[in-house]
Amino acid sequence: MSEEKRLESWEVEKTINELVEEWTHVTGETALERADLVIKKLKFTPKACEDCNLILTEPRTIHLNSNKIPFPHWKEVCQTCKKYRNPRNGKFEYNYSQTASYYLTLYKKNNKD
Ligand SMILES: [Zn+2]
Repeated sequence: MSEEKRLESWEVEKTINELVEEWTHVTGETALERADLVIKKLKFTPKACEDCNLILTEPRTIHLNSNKIPFPHWKEVCQTCKKYRNPRNGKFEYNYSQTASYYLTLYKKNNKD
């Protein structure tokens, strides 16, 4: 049997208002824009980053950078702590030069005469 409970409309409205940080008025012709208000931004509960433990006040962002030297690869950088993902264990703990050194060592290892 399902434990799911149907919410009354006032409960839905209360819940939505608790989650939404900012509403925006819209004028336009698309289906979405025919609504009077649309959600512009959801509230974010500050929490510790799962990798660096710094407190995030905005959703966490990780940038993916493409690199060509010494061979094509991707680097992932956490935008909160600016640390790079260690390809060996998946943790964000490397700085830029440790990451560069990892790929250079890997390249040398795979290109021995
Ligand atoms: Zn981080």
